Amino acid sequence: EALTPSALLARLEQEDVQFLRLQFTDILGTTKNVEVPRSQFRKALAGDVTFDGSAVEGFTRVEESDMLLAPDLSTFLIYPQFSREEGERGRVARLICDVTLPDRTPFEGDPRQVLRRQVDRARSMGFEMFVGTEPEFFLFERTSDGRGTTVTHDKAGYFDLAPIDKGERIRREIVNKLLHMGFDIEAAHHEVAPGQHEIDFRYAPALETADRIATFKFVVKRVALEYGLLASFLPKPIAGVSGSGMHCHLSLSKDGQNAFADPAGEHGLSRTALQFIAGLLEHAGAMTAITNPLVNSYKRLVPGFEAPVNVAWSTSNRSALIRIPAKRGASTRAEVRMPDPSCNPYLALAVMLAAGLDGIEQGMEPPPAIQRNIFKMTVREKRHHRVRELPSDLREALEELGKDDVVADALGDHVMTHFVAAKRSEWQEYSATIHAWELDRYLDLI
Ligand code: GLN
Ligand code: MG
Ligand code: MG
Ligand code: MG
Repeated sequence: EALTPSALLARLEQEDVQFLRLQFTDILGTTKNVEVPRSQFRKALAGDVTFDGSAVEGFTRVEESDMLLAPDLSTFLIYPQFSREEGERGRVARLICDVTLPDRTPFEGDPRQVLRRQVDRARSMGFEMFVGTEPEFFLFERTSDGRGTTVTHDKAGYFDLAPIDKGERIRREIVNKLLHMGFDIEAAHHEVAPGQHEIDFRYAPALETADRIATFKFVVKRVALEYGLLASFLPKPIAGVSGSGMHCHLSLSKDGQNAFADPAGEHGLSRTALQFIAGLLEHAGAMTAITNPLVNSYKRLVPGFEAPVNVAWSTSNRSALIRIPAKRGASTRAEVRMPDPSCNPYLALAVMLAAGLDGIEQGMEPPPAIQRNIFKMTVREKRHHRVRELPSDLREALEELGKDDVVADALGDHVMTHFVAAKRSEWQEYSATIHAWELDRYLDLI
C-alpha cells in the first residue's frame, strides 16, 4: 500500500508527528538516522534531504560526498513512545530510505540497493523470496555509571516460572512495541542461556524483513535501556554457554504458490528447492563472511551449542547448516542456521538469495541430506558424505569470499571493496592484540 507523498503529508499532520527519521544502513550494518522536523517534511518526502556520504563508513570519498535520501513510502510507521522525554517532543515516525547520488541514480554501495538487485533478479526468474527470522540476544546489567557488562539479571534460572523475571517483562514490552509498530511477531521466548531471549518474525518479502531487522535492533536496545539494561546482539558474549544466532527461514514463491513444495518430490521438496539448497551449500563459505561478520561470530560457530559448524543439510537434525522444518505445503522452507544478528541484514539476505538463485540457474544438485548428528561423525565419515566445515575464523571467511564470484558479484565492487578492507583491518587489529587467554595460559608457564 504505497502512499502518495501528499497523502503521507496529510497523515503526518493528522497523527501529530513532529519528527521524521530517515533511516538507512551503512555497509557494516549500522543503522543511521537523519531526523528532520516538521518544516522539512515536504522536502524529505520529495527525496531532497542530503547528507554527507563521506561521514558514513564505506560510503564515498570526500570529493563526491553529497548524497540524497529517497524515502520508500511503503515503509512508513510511527514509533511508539519510548519515554516521557520523547513524548514531550511529539510523535516520531520513520521512513526507510534508498540512498541515491545527486542525479537520483541509486548508489551501488547502499546495502538496501544490493538486496533490491537480487530481489529484481529473482523476479526476472519468476520468483519472490520470503524470509522469516529468529534473532536471539542477551539482556545484561549495566554498571551504576551505565557501562555494559556481561552479567545477566535472571539468575533465577530457566525453570522458574513465577514470578516472571525482569527479562520476561522487558521482552513482553519489546513485543508490545513491535506489534504496535505493525510488526508480525510469531513468538517470543527465553532461550537456552541465562539472560538470552528470542523474538520470531513471521515471514515477509525479503526487503521487508531486512528493514524490520534493522528497526528491531534499535527497538530492543531502546526498551532495554529504559529498564537500565543492555541488549546485546553480540554472537558469543559468554564462553561456555549458547551464543546468539539469527536463523533465517527462506522460501521462494512463484505465481503466488510456494515453489519449494512438491508432494511428489524427494523429502516433499521441489527441484527448485533442492537446487536452491545446493546453491546455498556451494557458496556457504563465502556467505559466512557476510552472515557472520565479526571476529566474535566464529566463537559461536563451534560444536555443542546448536550452532552449525558443518556445511550440510538435513530434514531432521539441528547440527546441519540448513534444516528443512517438517511443515510442507505453503510453509515449506529452508532454515539457514549460521547467520548471527551482528550481520547487515540487507547484505546477508542478498548473498543468500544470490547463492540460492545460482543453484537454480546452474541446475545444481545438493549432496544427500544427512539425518544423523554430524558432530558425532568421524573425519572419514564426513569426507565420505562430502561434508565440509564452515570457515573457522573471520580471516578464513574473507579468503573464501575473495574466491567466490557469485557472492562478490551480488555485493558489487563498491561494497565488496569496502567490506573486505574494513574486515581485514578488524582481523589485523585482533591478531595483533594480546588477549587475556594468552597471558592466563602462558605467562607463568613459559
Ligand atoms: N542459540 C543457537 C545458535 O547459536 C540456536 C538455538 C536454537 O534456536 N535452537 O544458533
Ligand atoms: Mg527459534
Ligand atoms: Mg533459538
Ligand atoms: Mg530456528
